[in-house]
Amino acid sequence: MAEVKLRALVLREVDFGDYDRYLTALSEGGRKIEILCKGVRRGAKQQIPAARQFCFSEFVLFERGGRYTLREADFVHSFWDLTQDIEAYALACYLAELAAALTAEDEDSPAVCRLLLLAFRALSGKKREGALVKASFEWRLMAESGYAPDLAVCGVCGRAVGQPPVCFSVRAGTAADEACARRIGGDYTRLADSALRALMHVLTCEPGKVYAFALTGPARAQFCALAEQYVLYHLGRGFDSLQFYQSIIKPIGAKK
Ligand SMILES: [Zn+2]
Repeated sequence: MAEVKLRALVLREVDFGDYDRYLTALSEGGRKIEILCKGVRRGAKQQIPAARQFCFSEFVLFERGGRYTLREADFVHSFWDLTQDIEAYALACYLAELAAALTAEDEDSPAVCRLLLLAFRALSGKKREGALVKASFEWRLMAESGYAPDLAVCGVCGRAVGQPPVCFSVRAGTAADEACARRIGGDYTRLADSALRALMHVLTCEPGKVYAFALTGPARAQFCALAEQYVLYHLGRGFDSLQFYQSIIKPIGAKK
């Protein structure tokens, strides 16, 4: 049995048996790992607070045949405050589930871990608005995972898309000039100019700035709605945690 040291962000925890717990975590390198934590629910003495959901921790693990067992864990950073607000918690669960869906146990995706840590940091203490953090994470995560939308070239005629108006198709994952979009129909919709600017920013900026912008009004609504549609369409699946998040934010949206 080998001892392994690594930093990882805990995405999910599941209790089982009388005293044990399973963690799904994302290593700093963006590898998804399962960690068995034996006896951590037995008594105060055995509990390891850094081995809990939404903690970014330095783990010491035993590894055998690709399976990990917890030995010890120390905090690098705890996003514990995200569990104290139901909306922030629901959103963090969705971002974590989405990250888990796009990472693997045998492949590194360091950008994904970085993006998720930055998203949690932006949500922590409500530094950034949840809806924009969610949409920005969705767009950039998809781009980092091989589903980058193409905004440079018209998906219909192949010419470079220059000045606005620019249209976008979730299904095609491409932009189109207005004439082509009108001709082809489909699900091409005209992007609000500020939504297009925000999308370009999120897709091309350095990771540390992904969540650092403001967007309001209909452009914000469009930017957010398209991000979610893009994820659901291209991954071809839904997420329980997303439904839970939607059930929480709906009453707020209904007031508008
Ligand atoms: Zn065209």
